[in-house]
This record gives sequence, C-alpha cells and structure tokens, in this order.
Amino acid sequence: DTVYLNGSFMPLAQATVPVLDRGFIFGDGVYEVIPVYSGHPFRLEEHLARLAMNLEAVRIRNPLVITAWHDACSRVIAANARLSDQSLYIQVTRGVAPRDQAFPRPDVTPTVLIMSMPLVTPGPELVESGVSAITALDIRWQRCNIKATSLLANVLLRQEAVDHGVAETLMLREGYLTEGSSSNVFIVKKGVLQAPPKSQYMLPGITYDVVLELAQAHGLPFDIAPVSEAQLRAADEIWLTSSTKEVLAVVTLDGAKVNDGKPGPVFRRMHALYQAFKNQVMRA
Ligand code: PLP
Repeated sequence: DTVYLNGSFMPLAQATVPVLDRGFIFGDGVYEVIPVYSGHPFRLEEHLARLAMNLEAVRIRNPLVITAWHDACSRVIAANARLSDQSLYIQVTRGVAPRDQAFPRPDVTPTVLIMSMPLVTPGPELVESGVSAITALDIRWQRCNIKATSLLANVLLRQEAVDHGVAETLMLREGYLTEGSSSNVFIVKKGVLQAPPKSQYMLPGITYDVVLELAQAHGLPFDIAPVSEAQLRAADEIWLTSSTKEVLAVVTLDGAKVNDGKPGPVFRRMHALYQAFKNQVMRA
C-alpha cells in the first residue's frame, strides 16, 4: 500500500495531511481515476491532460511537470505490483491554509496524493446480466465538466441508487440526460449509438472517448446529440461507461425493462471491441 504524498513515497497508513488542507475543509481540489491493467496504465496521457485542464479550470498551479507525473505514477504502480489490476487515484488540492474561502495569499503549495486501489471491473456475470439503474434530477452545480473532489451531490445521488438496490443513478437536467453519478451514459436506438455532447453538465469521460473512437473505427453508426428523458425511456439499449465500469449495460430503468431486459447486441459488440482494444494496447 505505497502511496505518493507531496514528493515522498510511504505506506498508506503513514500518509496524513493537516486538517487545514483545503481539500478537507472545502473539497477544494480535483482528481483522476486511472485503470491499470497488469501494470499498464490505460490512457494515462489523456487522464493527465484532463487533470492539467481541471487544475487550470480551478486555478490550482499544476504542481508537477508531465515527466514527473509519469514518474510518480510509475513508481506507485510498481510499488503495488502485487495487485494484478489497479485503480490509480490522483488528487490535487489547493493546499494547506487558514480557513478562508478565497485563495490563500501568499500562494501555498498544492497537496498531491497518488494512491493505488484494487481495480474491480465488472466480471463476466455482470457483463452478461447487466445492471439496474434509477433516474433522478441532476442537482449538481453547473461545472460538472470539472472532475472536482467536492462530490456531495454525487454522493447523495449514488446513495439513492444503493438505497434502491441498483447500480447507478442516471441524472436528468431540464428533461435531458446528463450522465450517471460516476459514469457517462449512451443509448442505442434502431442500431444507432447516441450520447449527449460534451458540455458543462457532464464529465468528458476518457471511456466515452474510447467508445466513440471504437464506434468510428468499426463503422458503428453514432449520433452525438442531446438525449431527452423520453428517448432515454424508449431506448433499445442503455450503457454506462467509466474507467472502472468499462462498458456496462443497464437492463432496467426505474424498475422498467430496457427492451427485453437483457444486454443488447450493440452492447455486446462494443464490449468485445473494448476488451480487444484494451488487450491490444496492453501488449503494445
Ligand atoms: N461522469 C462522472 C460523474 C464520473 O465520476 C466519471 C468517472 O468515473 C465518469 C463520468 C466517467 O469518466 P471516465 O470514463 O473518464 O472514467
């Protein structure tokens, strides 16, 4: 359980931050979750690029140059190599300062944490069975494109799913699908894959991009366009995508079956393409 904290490598149990860390006090930070398959980080450059963009968006100085990010990630991955697959978690907060909402003056050093957790991707049974989901109003703020650690709305929405015994909460804002509490959402209608366009109301998922690249490369028709609540409920297929869920079928929504209640053919095709792509990248 070796973690990277502010330039040092140490056991997780010894990694502590002061209570005045603005991550603790305000949720003033951003993060990334990167899947690592057999020691190989998947789409690391894209995750680090998104992290850099998020830091810029919230005006936290990027504390490491790109080579230092790569080096620190590699060392955490290597130190946790006993895990076959890892979920690499990076968090950067604005740093430690007396409690005041405004940025600290003089500037403080951002707090940087990189840790590794076991990566649990959906197993064959879950891929085969699919999962259930509920819908809820998207009660989040208007900067959902930023992967911020202040996740209280997501926490409440995700707990709603758990309370209902389902896997995910799909959010609706003004009658349109945004995303899941920790995933992006695709639908399929008459063989055409559809997903909401990137906007301030959803996280630009790395997996979302992979799925669209695969659709493009393999001639699967897709349409990036807003998805209304009616379209969502009438979809032939609904999928969740995320770095840890990969591609997962939703087979019931608010208790109603999605089509025949089984993962659909387009899902099965994309799931196979995703696994093949992942394995190919890992061997490269
Ligand atoms: N949307 C939200 C709100 C998320 O928390 C996540 C991350 O898990 C995603 C979408 C999917 O993003 P990615 O594919 O980059 O993991």
